Amino acid sequence: METRVSSDYDYNLFSSGLDPHSENRVLKATVSYLKSEIGKFKKKPLLVCEVRKLVGKHAVIRLPNGNYFLVEVLDSLRPQLSPYDTVLVEQHSLTIVDKIEQTNHFDIESFVILEKPSVSWDQVGGLKDPIRDLQEVVELPLINPQLFSQIGIEPPKGILLHGPTGTGKTLLAKAVAHSTNATFIQVTASELNQKFIGDGAKLVKDLFSMAREKSPSIIFIDEIDALASTRIDVGASGEREVQRTFMQLLTELDGFKSLDGVKVIGATNRLEVIDKALLRPGRFDRLIEVPLPDPLSRKNIFSIYTRGMSLSGVDISLLVPRTEGFCGAEIKGVCTEAGYFALRDGRTFVTQDDFSSAINKFRMISPSEHLTMFG
Ligand code: ADP
Repeated sequence: METRVSSDYDYNLFSSGLDPHSENRVLKATVSYLKSEIGKFKKKPLLVCEVRKLVGKHAVIRLPNGNYFLVEVLDSLRPQLSPYDTVLVEQHSLTIVDKIEQTNHFDIESFVILEKPSVSWDQVGGLKDPIRDLQEVVELPLINPQLFSQIGIEPPKGILLHGPTGTGKTLLAKAVAHSTNATFIQVTASELNQKFIGDGAKLVKDLFSMAREKSPSIIFIDEIDALASTRIDVGASGEREVQRTFMQLLTELDGFKSLDGVKVIGATNRLEVIDKALLRPGRFDRLIEVPLPDPLSRKNIFSIYTRGMSLSGVDISLLVPRTEGFCGAEIKGVCTEAGYFALRDGRTFVTQDDFSSAINKFRMISPSEHLTMFG
């Protein structure tokens, strides 16, 4: 039987009342344990670096101080490495000796919104077609993946929602996350570019690895045009950086299987500038338009936001023609503003006149101001 001793406390414990033979064994084990502990003081620390590129049997790594080196890799480790892995390197030769599995997504969690949304389909006004599409391409594959493997078709991995700002793209993505009980991971592409200069590509990699860990999950990339627009000039270093982040996004999309519990939903109000490479099969190959609400949808949205309000003699159908061209966020804003008109008048109920004043107020300010106020 092997005797393991982990401290002199254990030794005292073991030694009391032992025969000489056993005591000898315990002592030997103690000595070898202490030797190995002392050995730790003699070991040189390893550097934590990042793989940037694999070049044949070698790798380009980035040191914590920002310098790049072309280094050797242990043969046994080479097949497991990919760009943006975190690795341990020996200080003298900078040879890669081990890989750190990133289970701690500290960096990434500090910049994404991670939640289990509570938005249900009935909180989305209008948008019948986008809802049906999302149920088919996101909800069904996440809830019932076997169905797709039985039929032998692959549902899309990436879905691109496009349409004017404030029409409910984020709302839809949250609703589908809720209906599938998926973790909702939201990032804004423009923030990714601005805040993480030099690290964007690594964060994209971490984002997907976190999504796989927390599956079923939905990655929602808002303002995806900031990352994936066709650009003529990639000369500037900022642009090159964005390009790298974009390439990493494509690599991640190409690398995962559509049935592994992760879906990616992008949103943009500038479909015309999106790089076609993003829309190729196996990437964001399902486009869903989220338009401005038609009269019936506006009525629907008004009903949603007036549900909990105390109204007096309000006829919603009269508000519909007066809000032509308003998006969902603006209609929500009108309801809130009508409430404020009542409040300022010392009332606890809202009237048709309050809604009229609110609509007039909205008509006077520019759409971009609406969205900063109520978006
Ligand atoms: P987008 O992502 O298209 O810019 P959002 O989903 O962020 O728009 O919309 C902002 C807010 O406006 C939502 O949180 C919601 O309160 C409201 N809204 C927008 N569209 C709708 C809609 N169709 N039904 C109900 N509420 C809506």
